[in-house]
Amino acid sequence: MGERGHVTVIGAGVVGVATALCLVRDGFDVTVIDRDGPGENCSFGNAGMICDTSSAMPLPSSKVVRDLPRMLMDRKSSLHIRWSYLPALMPWLLVFLKSAGARQRLHNARVFHALLDGAVESWERLVDGTQGAALIRKRGLAIVYETEGGFVSAAADRAILRELGAELAELNGAEVRQSEPQLSDAVAAATFLPGVNHTVNPYRLTRAVADSVVAAGGVVETATVTGIEVSDGRVRTLRTTAGERKVDRLVVSAGAWSGRLAKMLGIRVLLDTERGYHTVFHGTDSGLRLPLIHGEQGFGMNQMDEGLRIAGSVEMAGIDAPADYARADILVERGRGLLRDFEPEPSARITRWMGRRPTLPDYLPALGEVDGLANTWFNFGHQHLGLTLAARSGEVTANLVAGRDPGLDLGAFRPDRFHR
Ligand SMILES: Cc1cc2nc3c(=O)[nH]c(=O)nc-3n(C[C@H](O)[C@H](O)[C@H](O)COP(=O)(O)OP(=O)(O)OC[C@H]3O[C@@H](n4cnc5c(N)ncnc54)[C@H](O)[C@@H]3O)c2cc1C
Repeated sequence: MGERGHVTVIGAGVVGVATALCLVRDGFDVTVIDRDGPGENCSFGNAGMICDTSSAMPLPSSKVVRDLPRMLMDRKSSLHIRWSYLPALMPWLLVFLKSAGARQRLHNARVFHALLDGAVESWERLVDGTQGAALIRKRGLAIVYETEGGFVSAAADRAILRELGAELAELNGAEVRQSEPQLSDAVAAATFLPGVNHTVNPYRLTRAVADSVVAAGGVVETATVTGIEVSDGRVRTLRTTAGERKVDRLVVSAGAWSGRLAKMLGIRVLLDTERGYHTVFHGTDSGLRLPLIHGEQGFGMNQMDEGLRIAGSVEMAGIDAPADYARADILVERGRGLLRDFEPEPSARITRWMGRRPTLPDYLPALGEVDGLANTWFNFGHQHLGLTLAARSGEVTANLVAGRDPGLDLGAFRPDRFHR
């Protein structure tokens, strides 16, 4: 064992591998354990945006609450709750509703802003001098609106973000088409966020980070963690499908499944999953230079290296329910109208995917040490921004494991904040 000791990281999604790379560069011996290969779950199919502080406004808002009853009835709405899952979701939903109040939302935005601040730079440090750097583009992001009303209804959020120091520009339809000629006349207005970067392939980026972990001396192991043994306030052993693993220090970064691992530690976290979908038109060049978000519907469009990806949607149905790929088709229906002349080759291969965003009801991750366990840290629950925050929260976690001040007040991110 190296001088600094050994850290086991559960989860080889983008959050786990980024954390592992920060730790291994810090001088720790690191083993990442995942039941699948790196990046094969939620980190596989996201929209690829690495956002800055202009994404600090949390999803729960008075508008979402107003729209909830309609969303419950409408299978096609951008946020949908399966009726059969509603009773199980209730405790989560009640905190969601509380988080939507104007004062609480502003408080959460400020706290989240502090975590997002530096996320883009953390990614730059993480991939500097590695294969991952070639997968990131620095072009900004356009949030496009089909109606003036939609654009105007986001004005209050824009004002808060500006006050917090975020950079954003307001464009009319003609102006945004000048920056992005592929946009159709359906686009009435846009907010341009110049500080947002994007990757052309989130899966390859996650793999590249995992490769960097191994190149730096870390280990990535395939096994499922099935049990955790704790004694005298320390995690001692993991039971896995590949046998027992002794633990010196432990980081839990298992995305949407982290609640199950927390339960093995006797800790309750109010984590649920917002299931999202994508469709990729392989080999199709949409001509899009900028990644887009549909302002009214909240989904993303991004020209990836493999083709055009349309990704988004929120479905609350629990971790294990089968996918409903009709939701991916709805995004395509709504997305293609934004593009001028979008006609994929009739022979284009089209794939659909469902991924599970790990989300706590106040939309703040669980980040930091765990009460009552001296050698364990949580780092999960990054909701719609797990790619964005992987490097930043990896650095924060490495600081904590090394016993350094992370330079950020982590009080609002306490993993057990809903059960104290
Ligand atoms: C449609 C969609 C679009 C998105 N777009 C964006 C975007 O543009 N920008 C952005 O920043 N974010 C985006 N996100 C969110 C982002 O993808 C997630 O927040 C992020 O991938 C979560 O990463 P993770 O490492 O926490 O989880 P995951 O990638 O799911 O990794 C968790 C890993 O833990 C492993 N694991 C779980 N339990 C065990 C166990 N018992 N034993 C061993 N291993 C275990 C799993 O196998 C898995 O590989 C999007 C998400 C979706 C669904």
